Amino acid sequence: MKSQIKVTSIESFILSDKLEESFYFSQWEYAERRICIVKVTSSTGHVGWGEGYGPAGIVRAGIEHLTPYVIDQNPLETETIWSTLYRRTLDFARRGVLVSAISAIDVALWDLKGKILEQPVHLLLGGKKRDTIVPYATGMYFNNSNLCETLAKEAKHYADSGFKAMKMKVGLDIAQDIEHVKLVREAIGPKIKLMIDANHAYNLREAIQLAKAVEPYDISWFEEPISPEYYEQYAALRSKTTIPIAGGECEYLSFGFQTLLQSKSVDIVQPDICAAGGLTEAKRIAVLASVYGVEIVPHTWGTGIAIAAATHFIANLDIMPGRLKTPNCYIELDRTENGLRDELTTSDMPVKNGEIRVSDAPGLGFELHEEVLQKYELKAV
Ligand SMILES: [Mg+2]
Repeated sequence: MKSQIKVTSIESFILSDKLEESFYFSQWEYAERRICIVKVTSSTGHVGWGEGYGPAGIVRAGIEHLTPYVIDQNPLETETIWSTLYRRTLDFARRGVLVSAISAIDVALWDLKGKILEQPVHLLLGGKKRDTIVPYATGMYFNNSNLCETLAKEAKHYADSGFKAMKMKVGLDIAQDIEHVKLVREAIGPKIKLMIDANHAYNLREAIQLAKAVEPYDISWFEEPISPEYYEQYAALRSKTTIPIAGGECEYLSFGFQTLLQSKSVDIVQPDICAAGGLTEAKRIAVLASVYGVEIVPHTWGTGIAIAAATHFIANLDIMPGRLKTPNCYIELDRTENGLRDELTTSDMPVKNGEIRVSDAPGLGFELHEEVLQKYELKAV
């Protein structure tokens, strides 16, 4: 019998933070951080928050399109609602931003479900398998002044702040990339893990060339070396380098990840929970990855909502293979300028001694400052 609890409203907001200093990566420049977040309210008066990764205006249109299928539904039935939203979008958008809209609603429903049941989301996902997670700093983007010097300085700053791992951008130009990787490795010493991310800037030949050249610098993974369209080239690259290959932030749903895994493209899959289908689908993707024996480290880029969703998801992850001294899991922690990430939510999950302690507070474990939401809300888009 259906409970009386119902979803009573869904509101979406587009938030924008104009950056003091723009930065760029292999594809384009960021002068602003913009994101669509969603607030779902239940008949019990509880509120859940979610966010969608991707162009905010389109995510918002998607959420508005899907709203009638969620209103009056029982928010505890996250999977039932997910199935309806999937079926309602399948004919038009098997991949892409409409899936981000589903993801935003799904994450908000999990937060809401936790708040209603007064339980943390990791428990509702099946249990907390670790108390702490190791964040890696994502930074070392490009700016226009003294790039070599600023990258090395930034890397040293993360190391001095206690980060045990960090990821830098490559994809400018192979010779320049090699120089940057060398300088960053020298700046942080041999013990800290270092990853590189090309955001699919290179073709196969170039990616092999860069991978071979940076192998001596102990690179923990090479992320999105090639366009995500070329699954077979990923597999070819894997056979040519000792550096593990990572990818999947442009992939959607378990079906997309099945293609990535079947083609043996990556050593590490990186679904974005706020794009690939929400927590409901991320759990299925995790099962799929474990069936293929491939590691999973989610892509995270957004506000404290996305970071909290990833934290609860990772706290619940099964590590394959199991052993007495299982290595800890990683979470991506973007360190670039972003007022939305820093100010919007409270968090009882601060980084301490290079680790994040997983929250046991209900839902996703944060409170959202609505006055900050108003400060950053873009009224007319
Ligand atoms: Mg990336």
